[in-house]
Amino acid sequence: MQRYSLHDGGGIRTVVFLKGCPFRCPWCCNPENLSFEPEVSFKERLCIHCSPRVNGRLCEKPVEDCPTGAKELLGRERGVDDLLDEVLRDRVFYEESGGGVTLSGGECLSRQRFAIDFLTRCKQAGIGTAVETTLAVPLEDAAALVSATDVFLVDFKIADRARSLRVTGIDPEVR
Ligand code: SF4
Ligand code: SF4
Repeated sequence: MQRYSLHDGGGIRTVVFLKGCPFRCPWCCNPENLSFEPEVSFKERLCIHCSPRVNGRLCEKPVEDCPTGAKELLGRERGVDDLLDEVLRDRVFYEESGGGVTLSGGECLSRQRFAIDFLTRCKQAGIGTAVETTLAVPLEDAAALVSATDVFLVDFKIADRARSLRVTGIDPEVR
C-alpha cells in the first residue's frame, strides 16, 4: 500500500497494489508485483551480515527478525474488511482533496472478485475509487466493476496480437 499518493488518480490517494500479473512486459517497473504469491526481497546494501547465509544469498533469520529491513516480505493476504479499515484511516485526506483509493498492481483485475468487493465497499463508505489496469483481462462482472469504479486508468499495452504475444506474452484480444 502507498498512502498519501498524488498520482494514480485525483487528489490524495491510497494506492493498493494487488500482487500478480499475467503480463511479462520487459519494461516493467514493478517486478516485485508479478508473482501472485508473497515473496521475500533482499537488499544487499542494507545487510549487516548478522546471520550466516544459506545458498550463498539469503540468511537463515526469519524476515520479521531482520534488524535492518534488508529482508522484507512483499505481499500478504488481506481481507476486504481489514483493508477497508486501513484505507478509511485517511478519509479526511480524501474528503479534503477530492482523492480516494486506487487499485493497482500487477494487474489488479486478475483478482477481480476481490477488487469488485473491495471497491464496492469503498463506494458504500463514500470513498472515491479508481482502477489502474491493462484492461486486457476477461471481465467477470463488468456491470459491477463499472458501478464500483469512478475512474479507470487504462494502461493498454500492445494492440497488435502477434507483437503483444511476442513482447508481453499476452493475447490482447480478450474474450
Ligand atoms: S537478518 Fe537481515 S541484516 Fe542480518 S544477515 Fe539477514 S538479511 Fe542481513
Ligand atoms: S502489465 Fe504492468 S505490472 Fe504487469 S508486467 Fe506489464 S508493466 Fe509490469
